[in-house]
Amino acid sequence: MGDILSDSIRTARKACPCDQCHRQIKIGERYRRQVHTFDGLCTYRAHEDCDAASQELHKLADLYPDEGYCLAEYADEDKAFLVEKYPAVAARFWPEVAV
Ligand SMILES: [Zn+2]
Repeated sequence: MGDILSDSIRTARKACPCDQCHRQIKIGERYRRQVHTFDGLCTYRAHEDCDAASQELHKLADLYPDEGYCLAEYADEDKAFLVEKYPAVAARFWPEVAV
């Protein structure tokens, strides 16, 4: 079990990949940055809405708190939820979904 060393919402100053959807976080987009030691020293970065969607889905899936939920892994199973509740996130996976 590790510790969270820092946790903040930032505005991207350079593009970096989102740990949830695996698409780019573009310059100027808001994202959550968390530095933790759960698996060695790691930095987690995700679009703010990807992070929110993954937390909600994590709860719905009734996973153990330590179990990671990754949108990129489960998006297909949770498509209906994402399209309804997080259309901007859904549009990253399925561009045909209108926002
Ligand atoms: Zn994302």
